[in-house]
Amino acid sequence: MPRPGSGPRPAGKRLSVRRDDTVLVISGKDRGKRGKVLRVDRGRGRLVVEGVGKVYKHQKASQKILQGGIVEQENAVAACTVMVVCAACKRATRIGHMLTEDGGRVRRCVRCGASLDK
Ligand SMILES: [Zn+2]
Repeated sequence: MPRPGSGPRPAGKRLSVRRDDTVLVISGKDRGKRGKVLRVDRGRGRLVVEGVGKVYKHQKASQKILQGGIVEQENAVAACTVMVVCAACKRATRIGHMLTEDGGRVRRCVRCGASLDK
């Protein structure tokens, strides 16, 4: 008998955030920061955003790494902690979808209606 809630795992989360989007962080220690999305991990629902989620690694010098010291790195943040910033109205917005004439789907800013996909 299958356990309740077991069932096939979705292949990836549907994220409305894509690479090269500008996003605003709405929670966590980087709240209020804006940055460009560098990487999207759909499977985990996480993003790497420029200048957000920075961690400092204390690296020891070794044979591979000649210079030790503090290395700055950007950590992935959960996709639900950011909102996409609309390029047209420059505000953080929720994303709607819109059908195009040729049957495709584009993302749309729910505030000003501008398309976020060219
Ligand atoms: Zn807008």
